[in-house]
Amino acid sequence: FIVVLSSVKDIKEVVYFAENLLAQIRLPIEIEGGAVSVTTSMGVSLCPMDGDEGDDLLRCADLAMYHAKAEGRNNFQFYTREMNEKALAQLDIEKRLKVAIQKNCFELHYQPQIDMATGLVKGVEALIRWNDEGTYISPEKFIPIAEESGLMEQIGKWVIIQAISDAEKLNKVLPNSLTVAINLSASQFRDSDKLIQLIVDQLKYTGLNPDKIELELTESMLIGDLDLVVDTLNAIRALGITLAIDDFGTGYSSMSYLKNLPIDTLKIDRSFISDIGVDASDAAITVAIITLANELNMSVLAEGVETQDQMEFLEEHGCSAYQGYFYSKPLPLLAFCEYYEKQRESTSQGY
Ligand code: C2E
Ligand code: MG
Ligand code: MG
Repeated sequence: FIVVLSSVKDIKEVVYFAENLLAQIRLPIEIEGGAVSVTTSMGVSLCPMDGDEGDDLLRCADLAMYHAKAEGRNNFQFYTREMNEKALAQLDIEKRLKVAIQKNCFELHYQPQIDMATGLVKGVEALIRWNDEGTYISPEKFIPIAEESGLMEQIGKWVIIQAISDAEKLNKVLPNSLTVAINLSASQFRDSDKLIQLIVDQLKYTGLNPDKIELELTESMLIGDLDLVVDTLNAIRALGITLAIDDFGTGYSSMSYLKNLPIDTLKIDRSFISDIGVDASDAAITVAIITLANELNMSVLAEGVETQDQMEFLEEHGCSAYQGYFYSKPLPLLAFCEYYEKQRESTSQGY
């Protein structure tokens, strides 16, 4: 909806109007005996400061509205020049991403995952890097933009193909078997038939055993129609692939919901791990997640372990695996193989 205030003398009038409109819309409505309320996100642009043509004013109000949504909805925001700069920067990334996809400028780096009981590498997580003419751009920066602009499908497809082919190479070259964990995007998970077909084709093409692949999902992807989610997860697991929930503890999954999901591993988010020795509640949450995973017969892996103290705390509390800079940063495939061999030679037990 668009509201035009045609004779504003003071910006305060706009604020009062927007506040009042939010409050009015929010009033509960009775439908079939139940109270339903609606929240609103509003973006405000001003003439002539933000533009004096209808199109410009609409574009600015639209950007401001997206900002209001990002600020948690149920609020209003005025358009600012920074919003425009941000939108332009995103557009620039989007354009360069399209070229990067054509030129295949992506790499997968691999971060070792360590089995707590043996101290040995049990698997790796594949993490995408955009090599933009020698500068690596973090997935945290470009994945949300790729998702929004519909480019994630192609990138996600490349990740699956590359990771499965690398997994086959790793398991051929290295003396011990390793699992390769692959992060899925929300759009890939939504289009599960296509995803499953792609994985099946690539497993067939490489001859890799499916139990060498783990797929990582986030809690937000699992929310929705429980039956549908469970069906999709079961279909993936029927291939022989394992499933992990990434960044566990930062989403909204309820315990009763979790109990119904066919999940193999919970990955404790690194925000809890980094504050283990600093914040008692983060340590308590970490212990609670480990207990929960153990009770539900899931394995549990701690992310972002950077210190010996964190590692020992986790070991003491029954966490079965970890990954983090303490052991190794994510490495290109070849560098990982070299690192693995070096570690193997230096451990007295051998791998
Ligand atoms: P994630 O899957 O939770 O991956 C862990 C992130 O933590 C990685 O960041 C990793 O480099 C970083 N990390 C690992 N150990 C430590 C540590 O000890 N300290 C600190 N400070 N950080 C550590 P990265 O590679 O920047 O990836 C960020 C996120 O981007 C990933 O979080 C994942 O959600 C997403 N992502 C990465 N690769 C892919 C991909 O191929 N596909 C999709 N859909 N998402 C991906
Ligand atoms: Mg992950
Ligand atoms: Mg994570």
